[in-house]
Order: sequence, then structure tokens, then C-alpha cells
Amino acid sequence: MQESKLLVGIVMLLSCSGMVLSAPVLAQPVQIIGPAGNGCIAGAQRLPDEGPGWQTIRRDRSSFWSAPVTINGVKTLATRLHAQGLPDLYVGDMSAPHGGRLPGGHGSHQNGLDVDLYLDLTPRPALTPDERNVLEPPSMVSADGNSLSPAWTQDTVTLLHMAATLPNVDRVLVNPVIKRALCEQVSGDRSWLHLIRPWWGHKAHMHVRFRCPAGQTLCVQAPPPPTGDGCDTTLAWWFQPHPAPPAAPPRPPEAPPAACRPILAGDTLSAPETRP
Ligand SMILES: [Zn+2]
Repeated sequence: MQESKLLVGIVMLLSCSGMVLSAPVLAQPVQIIGPAGNGCIAGAQRLPDEGPGWQTIRRDRSSFWSAPVTINGVKTLATRLHAQGLPDLYVGDMSAPHGGRLPGGHGSHQNGLDVDLYLDLTPRPALTPDERNVLEPPSMVSADGNSLSPAWTQDTVTLLHMAATLPNVDRVLVNPVIKRALCEQVSGDRSWLHLIRPWWGHKAHMHVRFRCPAGQTLCVQAPPPPTGDGCDTTLAWWFQPHPAPPAAPPRPPEAPPAACRPILAGDTLSAPETRP
């Protein structure tokens, strides 16, 4: 039965029985539009603040709406972590309720396929909502930015491996120091290193991006990462001195795809982009 017919049937049934519908029950179909850097999403779901193996943190400054593939990925990862006896996964920004530009300086997170997951696996007693709101998980990179911090453990490697091998993962962005550590420490199956990509920042969290789901014809898929494990000259580039880029004049943000306009209508814009 078509969803619309089903909902009409429910409304008629409730009306006939004398019940009053106090709130809309229509669930909007999921539609993912555009690329992660300039898109939107209709029918996004909100990840609950906590569940088996995960807790959302920094909730005053974050948004936890996403496509089902992303929500399911977080839940699967959390379940697998718990199965290994590891602590809860701390979940940061996902997307805004309709996608689009997200406060916090992100350049992506716009179409419900991105999630920031913290790398900290320090065992802690259950945190209160207030404690989770101000939690700042530690960096995995030393203060001078050249090596790992004491927060890095073998469990961090396990977490990154689990994330990169989730179904439908497109790539996982981490600091170059973290990528280099994996290149040095991972033996045996190294195929998953292909999806771990170095990027600016990302010292305390990894940015996991999922692929456009099948059937989402308006979702714009990024090109796949280059072949190989990435432990090569492309990684070495990050550790070479770079001249400061010339200051670019500020430019207005790119207009969202036309199909996003009705979805984003009424949403407020966010701060300028400074991170993925
Ligand atoms: Zn991110």
C-alpha cells in the first residue's frame, strides 16, 4: 500500500472512531539533495541523545539530524564497540533538521550523510546531560601538532577500523598525525586504510561520511578516495612546510540546489565555513 493511502486510512479510522488527532503524524519521505558541502535533506531523523553504546555531547552547540544510513551507521558502530567491551561512543555534529549550512563553521554536514564521532574511549561513569554538554574529549595529537598524545591507545585503532569498515562508508577524515600513526601501526589487513583520509584539524574526532544511498538520485556523490592505502607521498605532503595561502577575498556562499529551496525555506543561515 502506498504510504499516502495508508496515512489517509489511519486518519479516516481515527476520525470515525471519534478520536482527535492533536499533532501531524505524516512522516516525510527521506530525500537527500546535493553534495555534503552544499545540500539539504527532507525527512531527516534525529539521533536520540543516548542509546545502547552512544551518547550525544555538546548538545547546546550541535545538531543531530541525519539520513537513516548515518543514524544506522552510528548505532551499528556503538553496538560493535560495546560488544568489544569498549566505552560509549561520543557523537558530535550531524546535520541540521533540513540540512543546509550548519552552525559551527562546518563546510559540509549539509545533506545528512556526515557525522563527527569522538575518538576518546576513556572509561567514565555515566555522564549527566549537563556534563555531556560541556565535555571536551581529549585530542589524539600532541600540543605541538607533530605526534600522538597520551590519549591514543590501541582502542583508538580499533575504533577507527570499526568506523572505516561500517557499511556504506565513503571516507573517514582524521588529522594527518592520526593517519600516519595508522600507517605505522596497522599490520595484516590494511585495505581499510584506503578510506582513512588526512585533513586539517580532526585531532579529537573523526568525520565519517556515508555514500549516497541507492535511489537518492539528487544526492551528489563525491569522487572515491585515491586508490591505495594513502601511506605515501600524498600523506608526506601534510608534513612538509607550506607557504601561507594568499588571503582570498570573502565570497558569498554558493546557492543551494534549486530542489533545496522549498526544504530550506525559513531556516536561518549559519556562520562562515572553516572546517568540514
Ligand atoms: Zn565533520
